[in-house]
Amino acid sequence: MVSRDVLVIGGGVAGIQAALDLGDMGLHVHLVEKKPSIGGRMAQLDKTFPTNDCSICILAPKMAECSRHPNITLHTHSEVKGLTGSAGDFSVKVLKYARFVDEEMCTGCGDCIQKCPIKAPDEFDMELRVRKAIHLYFLQAVPLVVTIDRERCPYITKGKGHCGLCQKICQRGAVNFEQQDQEIALDVGAIVVATGFDPFDPSVVRQYGYGKYRNVITSLEYERLISASGPTGGHLQRLSDKEPAKRLGFIQCVGSRDMKHNRFCSSVCCMHATKEAILANEHHRELHSTIFYTDLRAAGKGFQEYVARAQREYNVTYVRSRVAEITQDENERPIIWYEDTSSGQAGSETVDLAVLAISLVPRRGAKELAALLGVELDEYNFIKTDPFSLTDTTRPGVFACGYCRGPADIPESVAQASGAAARAAEIVMGG
Ligand code: SF4
Ligand code: SF4
Repeated sequence: MVSRDVLVIGGGVAGIQAALDLGDMGLHVHLVEKKPSIGGRMAQLDKTFPTNDCSICILAPKMAECSRHPNITLHTHSEVKGLTGSAGDFSVKVLKYARFVDEEMCTGCGDCIQKCPIKAPDEFDMELRVRKAIHLYFLQAVPLVVTIDRERCPYITKGKGHCGLCQKICQRGAVNFEQQDQEIALDVGAIVVATGFDPFDPSVVRQYGYGKYRNVITSLEYERLISASGPTGGHLQRLSDKEPAKRLGFIQCVGSRDMKHNRFCSSVCCMHATKEAILANEHHRELHSTIFYTDLRAAGKGFQEYVARAQREYNVTYVRSRVAEITQDENERPIIWYEDTSSGQAGSETVDLAVLAISLVPRRGAKELAALLGVELDEYNFIKTDPFSLTDTTRPGVFACGYCRGPADIPESVAQASGAAARAAEIVMGG
């Protein structure tokens, strides 16, 4: 019998859109997200291009709608671990990791976080600040429930008698150290995969000094730095001394279009850097940015006008170039050494922060997930999809959308999500 349930894997903007579309069609959706909250990478962005709309302001209502939707069941802090069957009749095994906090009881009040003595790098803030062992994934998390980091909490690693403060402080009795990982069995008719991307580690491009020079950062770290909810409250400052940054250099294609690393173009970085440079100037009108680009890929609607505005109104200079190396001066100011590929001249520019537009690559674990789902990957580990439908994978009944099937920006990912949802609905509604 064809199941009328659909599984969506990945709770970023694409997965959320697919779930909402399917839910609105009257189908029951199981949305599985590995992290403790839905939201994905879009939740980490400050603004979106080319309109400079606040990212979380667009996303948060969709996240809330997802959690309240009568046809959507959220499985956060969970992973798909097994799949059998065929289109219309899949059996799925999902592993729900213990949070050690009862999701029904916790209100996200944060009293326990105040008392917790253990600190750990905050993954959501790109490790630019610390969080506690018991923590809320981010301020607008859905569900608004804390999670205990099982690798950091001494009560869990060493046993009873070590700390336990959060349990004592919680008036709701929500902390539960007895909670176990739980296996959940689901029967679904179709599957939509929307697992997004991970950032490329630029420390392997040794000549750019990432990890060695404190004022060389990645584009995703920059997003958290400029975000009002980020580690500096939105003040753009050098990481070495917290002085305001007045001059920025953006280095494009770090790890992308590169025979040694990823040959593909990550597609979003030219406009992403333009947006980051515009935002910086909006914060400090005297701030100047230079974008060192390979080719300027501004092909979307309104993109070229956005670049023209950046030059005209926001003190942004574009230099077609290849950056050879980044060094730093005695004040830890990065010096960007480049060849201007239009004139053939060599040059250098000293900045307060050098921002590396890193390649965006398929999620770690993409190969294992593909093997589990029985779908093929392309040469870069993106999920192979049919060039006409865009979302059909090599396995009938399994569809893919967003960055996991190839570089795509937010509007493209959302459009693909609606396409994937429609294809999944065809299966479960009988064509
Ligand atoms: Fe508040 Fe308790 Fe939840 Fe901590 S566990 S956020 S104290 S309700
Ligand atoms: Fe933090 Fe663990 Fe102590 Fe709770 S028991 S307060 S999570 S260290």
